[in-house]
Amino acid sequence: MTREPFLDLLDAATQTLQAEFAGLPEFAPAPGADAEAMARVLAETAHRLGDNYPYFHPLYAGQMLKPPHPVARAAYALAMQINPNNHALDGGRASSAMEIEAVRAIAALFGWTEFLGHLTSSGTFANLESLWVAGQLRPGQRIVASEQAHFTHRRIGGVLRLEFAAIAADARGRMRLDALEDELRQGGVGAVVATLGTTAMGAVDPLDEILPLARRYGARVHVDAAYGGYFGLIADALDAPARRAYAAIGAADSIAIDPHKHGLQPYGCGCVLLRDPAVGRFYQHDSPYTYFTSKDLHLGEISLECSRAGAAAVALWATQRLLPLTNEGAFAEGLRRGRRAALDLDRRLRADGRFVSLAAGPPELDIVVWAVRAARGEESSRRAREIFDACARRDLHLALVQLPAAWFDAHGCAAEQGATLTCLRSVLMKPEHEAWMDAIWTRLLAACGEAGCG
Ligand SMILES: *Cc1c(COP(=O)(O)O)cnc(C)c1O
Repeated sequence: MTREPFLDLLDAATQTLQAEFAGLPEFAPAPGADAEAMARVLAETAHRLGDNYPYFHPLYAGQMLKPPHPVARAAYALAMQINPNNHALDGGRASSAMEIEAVRAIAALFGWTEFLGHLTSSGTFANLESLWVAGQLRPGQRIVASEQAHFTHRRIGGVLRLEFAAIAADARGRMRLDALEDELRQGGVGAVVATLGTTAMGAVDPLDEILPLARRYGARVHVDAAYGGYFGLIADALDAPARRAYAAIGAADSIAIDPHKHGLQPYGCGCVLLRDPAVGRFYQHDSPYTYFTSKDLHLGEISLECSRAGAAAVALWATQRLLPLTNEGAFAEGLRRGRRAALDLDRRLRADGRFVSLAAGPPELDIVVWAVRAARGEESSRRAREIFDACARRDLHLALVQLPAAWFDAHGCAAEQGATLTCLRSVLMKPEHEAWMDAIWTRLLAACGEAGCG
């Protein structure tokens, strides 16, 4: 096995870091570490970790899992030697400055220079903060999101004690504007959540049309781009409707985006951006003990979470330093490769009579969903589960998703009115997926043969 490049990076950077504190008197850390005992425990730990799907490998093409970049892993491990807490400047001075710079670079993606924003532990928390602010500004009003939006929005509504309503989606999984207007007309809608990149199929809600509609009824617009936010960088590689939606993001009131999904970061790295910095007033609190050393802004003063991993900010800062968020360059190229892989798989599926693709057209981002052709809906669903298992036996890991049968070619898998199908789903978010498509396809067809679809 080859030595992990990040171990050498970490060794070299650790020496630089130690030199930064070289003026301090030596001390012996307590308790003394028993190297042999630690090695034993770590060997056991590594063994336990073997009981995972191989998320790092290109044949893992199931859920939204993407290995963090080596520079992110090295920077995170380096920061662990300090273990900064970005709650307050007392706990993480350098890492707070790095967080502010890193978040500013993400906001610039959407054309924002004056805003309020910070990292969060997750997309869920970024969405929670955005909708909490919406609830402060529109107390007691409803939150609405597409029925394909992440389930967390309904739950967040429960946490915030704000009513939630789901808006019907079209055959591409996008929020339907007529259904949205019906809901808005009833009055009392405080915030519309537009999802740019749904979790199930990477559908892009028509934000450019949602915005003026929501504004007409006085509702705020929150963009959940936890998954799809970075595709704004390569909007030129998307189809026209998605391109228009991404072009409109800057006019939204708030945005959630997850560096730990498509931003090459270890988990624990979401990001919330609020367009109007004045909403910072809602976070105000008096803490007698946290902020003493500086008059500068503390990130803890604009965050619902208190202790936050400074290491997450350090890793993100280092990654963006190496791979700037530009339309050209290695980061954008990584996104483009996944997008091309998804279009390639979609073309192969459409040309193969054993499968049924979404009738409305190709994927909008890098997530492909498809059904198995069968005489009846139930059989199609059963076959999908069999293919899923047969793929896993060939080390190809896909995912399953329930979608309305009506969205697929009616002749392919006739199902009763209103029925859902179990479909296959593949998130092709690793740059390697493009080059691995032949290997993926060969295994899928073999699995299909084993499941008796021929
Ligand atoms: C993943 C996801 C979330 C939740 O984010 P976490 O980081 O998992 O908490 C919310 N919305 C969308 C669209 C997502 O894809």
